[in-house]
Amino acid sequence: MEHEKQYLDFERMLTDVGIRVTAVRSLIWRTINTKTSGVFSLADTENVLPTVDRSTLFRTLSLFAEKHLLHEIDDGSGMQKYCICHCSDKEHHHGHIHISCVVCHETFCIHEVEIPSVPIPEGWDVEEAEYVIKGVCPKCRGKRIV
Ligand SMILES: [Zn+2]
Ligand SMILES: [Zn+2]
Ligand SMILES: [Zn+2]
Repeated sequence: MEHEKQYLDFERMLTDVGIRVTAVRSLIWRTINTKTSGVFSLADTENVLPTVDRSTLFRTLSLFAEKHLLHEIDDGSGMQKYCICHCSDKEHHHGHIHISCVVCHETFCIHEVEIPSVPIPEGWDVEEAEYVIKGVCPKCRGKRIV
């Protein structure tokens, strides 16, 4: 039962980070892993999970972010966005670079570039960092020229 095994793998990822598995958490985690790619918004998850209400979705995604399964991204679009975390625990607080289009508000992860280390003032414990580059994406640049 290949299908069933996959279900268990996703639930395992939740329990591994100390999240108690419930039917809805399992459904949300499985769905964002199979139906979204790259950066997705709360609205995107509502589209692929129409049976789950928005506040449950938001709370669950916040929990996943708190447990480092997701990165929360504030790209200035006014929409909460997320991407699935693929970094090790140690790297997580560095995050990775995101690039966001100011025209269509699409945001992408940049994994190829290391974030240069930033000297932090003494006495600070860094929890996380966010690097968002804003620009006009190739699709929207094309439209502007026409
Ligand atoms: Zn991470
Ligand atoms: Zn664009
Ligand atoms: Zn990302």
